[in-house]
Amino acid sequence: MIDLETLKSLLTEQRNIVITTHHRPDGDAMGSSLGLYNYFVQKGHHVKVITPSDYPYFLHWLPNNPEVIIYTEKEAESKKLIAEADLIFCLDFNTLSRINELGEEVRRSSAKKIMIDHHLEPEGFDDFRHWSINACATAQLVYDFIVNELKDGELINKDVATCLYTGIMTDSGSFRFPTVTSGLHRIVADLIDAGAENWRIHQLVYDNSTEARLKFLGYCLSSRLEVFREYNTAIIYISREEIKRFDIQTGETEGIVNYALSINGIRLAAFIVEREDRVKLSLRSTGDFPANEICKRYFEGGGHRNAAGGQSDLPLEKVVEKFKSILPEYKTLLLQ
Ligand code: 5GP
Ligand code: MN
Repeated sequence: MIDLETLKSLLTEQRNIVITTHHRPDGDAMGSSLGLYNYFVQKGHHVKVITPSDYPYFLHWLPNNPEVIIYTEKEAESKKLIAEADLIFCLDFNTLSRINELGEEVRRSSAKKIMIDHHLEPEGFDDFRHWSINACATAQLVYDFIVNELKDGELINKDVATCLYTGIMTDSGSFRFPTVTSGLHRIVADLIDAGAENWRIHQLVYDNSTEARLKFLGYCLSSRLEVFREYNTAIIYISREEIKRFDIQTGETEGIVNYALSINGIRLAAFIVEREDRVKLSLRSTGDFPANEICKRYFEGGGHRNAAGGQSDLPLEKVVEKFKSILPEYKTLLLQ
């Protein structure tokens, strides 16, 4: 472990910095990574963002997005950058398995590893952490890191502010989850003052659907939604064939699970989708219900109490059956 003063002194010289984030990056992963990137370039560092996989088109407009390197498209270059890095910033994840093959490269690297994250139970691969499970988004922690730890608030320019606003907006469900506090709104106000065009960011992320996605959403709701009133639970499940038929791309299934959770009385919602390699689950819950516990115990995953994910090597139908068979165990909690 290193302390803040040591980290600050490391940052006084020009450094090779790699910023990386989790597999299938979402708005917070990309917003926090590019937010930190746009800060470090102002300090004159040699900085690169490397993602383990690609990410949705509705995040491609983020300032300096063309600078992002996708590992699966540029493996050799990514490995070289990691091997030569002085500092590696790990954003929005806290176990190296979340970055796939990149995890071993990062573990092997002699660079100092700085974790900025808001997920439970860090694995402990890091040398320095700026971590809080009370933060609604990693982007909020990046703001705090730049402003309060590095004392560089004046470098929150329009690009940094735009990226961080995007991360906070997406991870807070557009400022409506219980993690949203008056303090968070003050940070958001600061980001708007620094140049984040809030209305435009909402439009670019949320009003940017393809026709195919909207029709797919309609299909999910009309044909693939099952509600189990006796457990206050709703699920939507989708096969690989259906994903192909509707021409659904990376990231276009994001947010669909929230429609299931929006049904009155529903406390737990799952979106279960058959991907190329395995079946992936996205769980959402309300109140105290621990969606992450189900993912951790039964589906090789984890996450936050109200938003968690996991996977399974079983066929889709078996995963759905397995999910349903777990519900009786949680009946009391689900009916509270
Ligand atoms: P999503 O449903 O959007 O894929 O994921 C929701 C949240 O669950 C993410 O923010 C992440 O914290 C967590 N999550 C998703 N998949 C996994 C996984 O495979 N392992 C772990 N530990 N967490 C996951
Ligand atoms: Mn996040």
